[in-house]
Amino acid sequence: MARMYYDADANLDLLADKTVAIIGYGSQGHAHALNLKDSGINVVVGLYPGSKSAPKAKDEGLTVHPVDKAAEIADLIMILLPDEVQKTVYKNEIEPHLKEGKILAFAHGFNIHFGQVVPPPEVDVIMVAPKGPGHLVRRTYQEGQGVPCLFAVYQDASGQARDRAMAYAKGIGGTRGGILQTTFREETETDLFGEQVVLCGGLSELIKSGFETLVEAGYQPELAYFECLHEVKLIVDLVVEGGLANMRDSISNTAEYGDYTRGPRIITDETRSEMRKILKEIQTGQFAREFVLENQSGKPGFTAMRRQEAEHPIEEVGKDLRAMFSWLKKK
Ligand code: NDP
Ligand code: MG
Ligand code: MG
Repeated sequence: MARMYYDADANLDLLADKTVAIIGYGSQGHAHALNLKDSGINVVVGLYPGSKSAPKAKDEGLTVHPVDKAAEIADLIMILLPDEVQKTVYKNEIEPHLKEGKILAFAHGFNIHFGQVVPPPEVDVIMVAPKGPGHLVRRTYQEGQGVPCLFAVYQDASGQARDRAMAYAKGIGGTRGGILQTTFREETETDLFGEQVVLCGGLSELIKSGFETLVEAGYQPELAYFECLHEVKLIVDLVVEGGLANMRDSISNTAEYGDYTRGPRIITDETRSEMRKILKEIQTGQFAREFVLENQSGKPGFTAMRRQEAEHPIEEVGKDLRAMFSWLKKK
């Protein structure tokens, strides 16, 4: 089994004399900044003038600077901007301040691995990637727990890059859950594969197709929503808690028999071969090129797909039904 590292394996003192700049205050940014601050680290936040997140960061007790000032005064610069804007912000506002001894950090390897950001050789380049959304990185930290993280070293100019990455992971609470060493390549390729094939692409399409099949056949959309969307969480909770076996223990024998005999007819050899194709597109950089070009041209396809998907009937039904759930009513 791969080695996991925990609190006792990482030394937070390595960051004690350092200023950390968190660039971006979104999902990951707010969580990293607040957790590091609560861990006793000197943190500043870097944002563009007029950023919607700046007032929030200030309200939460953080010092906010323009990105270029934050990059100038910091020893460790963690880039937590959307992946598609990192290249430009890096080039204009961060790169000019990368002197020997500094540390450049990421929470996802995309821009380094696909050559969008090319740091100078005299800085450490590290990654600490929480395996969970930012609000959980913050909430679990406050509860004394932590979201497990991947960490990696791309460039070790100081000879301390690995220990520094582990220290950062400890500062955000990652070593409470356990951290696992990887490479920028492995993290980037598996992260993209997971989100495209299983977690986001695969799951969304599975939910929608199931819903559409039932509705087309004349069943009530509300019922189709519960069956194909709402119950997903209940099943996934069982899977995460104790593996597939735990879920199969809990469902009826009828459901379990249907699982074994019908599941393989949904994920067929054709589906598996498509999965391998998608992995190839990731490995060869074809997906990265497509995403970069899409963003450079102003996201026409991305915007259209977002709108279309938001108009899907499952979203309509869902909105009405969720409005009635007592535990969600406050939101
Ligand atoms: P978000 O989209 O949540 O972050 C947006 C932040 O960046 C906001 O503060 C926004 O300001 C600011 N911003 C946007 N454009 C610019 C700009 N041009 N200059 C300066 N600031 C700007 O990002 P995420 O937290 O989702 O992602 C950050 C990184 O973390 C990515 O590399 C991602 O792959 C990685 N990651 C994300 C995870 C997640 O759970 N979301 C999980 C693991 C890794 P404003 O508020 O004004 O728009
Ligand atoms: Mg991702
Ligand atoms: Mg059932």
